[in-house]
Amino acid sequence: MADLSLKHIYKVYPNGTKAVNDFNMEIADKEFIVFVGPSGCGKSTTLRMIAGLEDISAGELKIGGVVVNDMEPKDRDIAMVFQNYALYPHMTVYDNLAFSLRLKKLSREEIHKLVVQAAETLGITEYLSKKPKEMSGGQRQRVALGRAIVREPKVMLLDEPLSNLDAKLRTQMRAEISKLHSRLNTTFIYVTHDQVEAMTMGTRIVVMKDGFVKQIDTPKNLYNYPANKFVAGFIGTPQMNFFEGTLKKNGEEVRIDFAYCNAGITVPCSKLDKVRPDYLNGETPVYIGLRAEDVSVDREAFGNNKAVVKLRISHVEELGSETLLYGDLNMDGDGYSESLTKIVIKDDGSGGYRAGDVIEAALNTERIHLFDKQTEDCVLPRIPEYNYLDCTVSGGLLNFLGESIALPPAIECADGEYELLIPVDALKAGKDIGVKVETCENICGKTLLSAELNGKMLYALVPETVTEKTLKLDVDFKKITLLKDGVKVIEPLPEVSRLDGLFVKNKVKKLTEADGKVKTVKAIEFSLETEGKRFTVPDTLAQKLFAALGVRKAFNSPLKIECGAGSLIFGENGINARVERMLDYGAEKFVKCRVGEKFVYLLADKDYDGEVRIVPDLDKIGIIEAERNIRII
Ligand code: ADP
Repeated sequence: MADLSLKHIYKVYPNGTKAVNDFNMEIADKEFIVFVGPSGCGKSTTLRMIAGLEDISAGELKIGGVVVNDMEPKDRDIAMVFQNYALYPHMTVYDNLAFSLRLKKLSREEIHKLVVQAAETLGITEYLSKKPKEMSGGQRQRVALGRAIVREPKVMLLDEPLSNLDAKLRTQMRAEISKLHSRLNTTFIYVTHDQVEAMTMGTRIVVMKDGFVKQIDTPKNLYNYPANKFVAGFIGTPQMNFFEGTLKKNGEEVRIDFAYCNAGITVPCSKLDKVRPDYLNGETPVYIGLRAEDVSVDREAFGNNKAVVKLRISHVEELGSETLLYGDLNMDGDGYSESLTKIVIKDDGSGGYRAGDVIEAALNTERIHLFDKQTEDCVLPRIPEYNYLDCTVSGGLLNFLGESIALPPAIECADGEYELLIPVDALKAGKDIGVKVETCENICGKTLLSAELNGKMLYALVPETVTEKTLKLDVDFKKITLLKDGVKVIEPLPEVSRLDGLFVKNKVKKLTEADGKVKTVKAIEFSLETEGKRFTVPDTLAQKLFAALGVRKAFNSPLKIECGAGSLIFGENGINARVERMLDYGAEKFVKCRVGEKFVYLLADKDYDGEVRIVPDLDKIGIIEAERNIRII
C-alpha cells in the first residue's frame, strides 16, 4: 500500500527522443490509475520509470513518501505484470508463484500459505502442478498476476496485461483485475491503449499523447468534460461528432454556425459566459463537438430549444439495443465521401429511417463542446480562466456591474471604457463586492464558486466550499488585465521572471581544524551563475542538476532561472539591479527592477529607489534546462 508522487518527470532517451514531458501527478494509496493513449505516447516509459527499469531524466518520483529516483527496482516494493506473462516455462505454476518468495528466504510453510492463497484468489488452484505451456493465455496471465500478488507489493504495475487475450477473455479478465484490486487494497497502475479498458477499470485515467499528459480525471469526467479535442475524440464510441464553425454574439444570444453547410443554431449567452469573448466574434474558427447521444431525431428531446439541424441519412447501423444513424449536414454531399459535416446519432430505431431520408435533429446544447481550431483546447472549460467584464475607469475608480472600487496606485490608467479580465483565482473573500452564491462545485480538487452580481455570473476559485447564500469578494488587482479595443493597457504583475544561468564549479580554500591546528584545504563548491554573480548551491540541488544534466554536460548547459516575487530578496553580494518603479497594490507592494535587459519583481516592505542588489532564494526558484526545455526544479 502506497501513494505515489510524480513531479516534473521527464524521459529523454539517449537518441534524443523526448518520450515523457513534464509528467505531474499525485496518486493516492489504493487508487486504480490507468495510463491510456495511442502507441508511442509514452505510457510504458512512464510505468517503467516508476518500476525503476528506466532512468528518470529529470523530476522527482516518490513512492510512499520516499524519493526513489536512484533506488534499485528490487528495493521499490513494486510488482510488475507484462503483456507476455514472463513466466518460467520449465517450472510448474506452483514454483513460478513460489520463486520470488524463495528468494526472500521465507519458510516452506509461509511460502505454501501465500501460494495457495494467491491461487485461490485467482482461481488457479487446479493448475498448480501444471507447466505454463499446458495452459491457455488467460490462465497464464492469471499466473503472472499471481506471481505479482504473492509478493504483497506496495504498488502493482501492469503493462498491457490483457492485449494477448481474445476479446471475450479480455472482458472477463478486466472484471477480475478490478475485483482483485478491491480485494488486495493495493495501488494499481495499469497501461493500455484501449479506451474501453481504461474507462471500465480506472478510478482515474491519465490520457497521454506524444509524450504529454492531455488530461487526468475520472472516467465520467473525461467523457463529460474533455479538456481538449484529442481526449474528446479518444474517449467514447462512437467517436464524438466534430464540426468546424464560428460563434457570434448577438444581444442575449450566441449564434453557432456550422461550416460547409447551412446549419446554424442559437444558444443563450449565459450558457457561453465562460468562453473568452474573442471567440464570439463570428470569425474565430472553432470545433463544435457533440456526442451521438446528444443529438436526437426527436425534435422535442432536449426541450423546446432552437437547436435543430437538417441532415440527410447516409446509412443506418442496427446494433440490437440501439441504432446508429449516420448522416451529413450538407444536403448537397453524396453522403459517402469524407466530409466535415458528417454526423452520427444514437437512436432507438423506432423511426425506421433509411438511407436517403432527410430529417431534422435536435442538438442538446447543454452538452455542447467547443475547441480552439489551432490548439484544440476546450474553449468552454469547467473552470474558466477569467471573468470577462465590461468596465469604466473614472477618477481612480473601477466601475463594473454596478460596483465601484478604488484602484490601487500601481494601476495607472486614463478614464474611459475598457474590457476587464479578472482571473478566477483573483477574486477572494473580502469586503468590496457583495455577491449571491449560486453554486460551489468541486472540480478536480479545486472549488469553483459561481456567484451572481447584478445579473451576471462571476466565477472564483475558493479555498473551501462556501455554505453562505451571500458573500463579499475582493479583487486581487495585481492579477487583472484591462484592454482597450483589444490592446492590453494594464497587464498583470508577472508571476515569474526568467534569468539566464549556468551551473558552475569553483575551487575554494576552506579552513579545517584537526588536532587543534587550523589548516587550509582545497575544495570544490558548486554554484549557480547568473548576471555575473555566483550563488553557492546546497548539495541536494547540485545532485538534482547533475542527475538532470548528466555529469558531462552539467557545466555547459544553458539554464533559465525562474524567479517569482517571493524568491528574490535584497542582499549583499547580489546581482546589480536598478529600481524602475514601486508598484503599490494596496495590500502588497512590489519593486520592479531592471537587471540587464530584463525586469524582475520583488516583494517590498518599504519604498526603494536607485541601485540595489538582489539575491535569489535557491529554495524557491525554478530551474529549466533551456536546450531541451526540461524543468529541473
Ligand atoms: P507507449 O507505451 O505509449 O506505446 P513508449 O513509452 O513505449 O510508448 O514510447 C514512447 C516513445 O519513446 C516512442 O516514440 C518510442 O519510440 C520511444 N522509445 C521507447 N523506448 C525507447 C528507447 N529505448 N530508445 C529510444 N526511444 C525509445
